[in-house]
Amino acid sequence: MRLLVVEDDQELADGLASSLAQSSYAVDTYPTAELAFAAATIQNYDVIVLDLGLPDGDGVDLLKRLRERGVRSPVIIITARDQLTDRVRGLDGGADDYLVKPIALSELDARIRVQLRRQQAEPFTLRFAAVGLDAVHRQAIVDGKALDCTAKEYAILEVLVRAQGRIVAKDRIFDGIYDAESDTSPAAVEVHISRLRRKLTAANSNVSIRALRGLGYRLEASA
Ligand code: CA
Repeated sequence: MRLLVVEDDQELADGLASSLAQSSYAVDTYPTAELAFAAATIQNYDVIVLDLGLPDGDGVDLLKRLRERGVRSPVIIITARDQLTDRVRGLDGGADDYLVKPIALSELDARIRVQLRRQQAEPFTLRFAAVGLDAVHRQAIVDGKALDCTAKEYAILEVLVRAQGRIVAKDRIFDGIYDAESDTSPAAVEVHISRLRRKLTAANSNVSIRALRGLGYRLEASA
């Protein structure tokens, strides 16, 4: 587990770094928004601990820039400012949690563990609306419940989820689920899709498979 600590108070930064290192984290510390931005866009951190008052800018602005860059690491804000507006700004800016200085190291440690657990509880790398795919176990999840589908149905759903609502030609779905030697006809795809549709409906999913005549299929999400 690798952590980034962005804090310009050298004494505090050193204290956090040595305390977190004792908890077996690898810790990088940077005192400015610019250095932290450069580090966080290169290295994938498991958690970022972010001070709001930095010498070259505001921590919330840094956070927004990181989110815009696609940095998804959980961020815990630490600030001396305990006013409500700062907390709200931080959370609105994409922070996951905040702590008010002076910080109890044991509490920071506990909050970091919460963020790490949260990440592990969401193993889905693929998602379309309410449908998540656990690609490791090849299991579809709808609204937190496992969808009981066959291997072929899962494979079709994965092709469609990867397309994120774009149309997928029937031939491409066929190629994706049958090997070259298969003597099954492309019409078999339709059978699997109609079963999958029924299962998505039965699961009360807001996701449906739409057939576009002569073009293929795509996923649609209703509000
Ligand atoms: Ca500061």
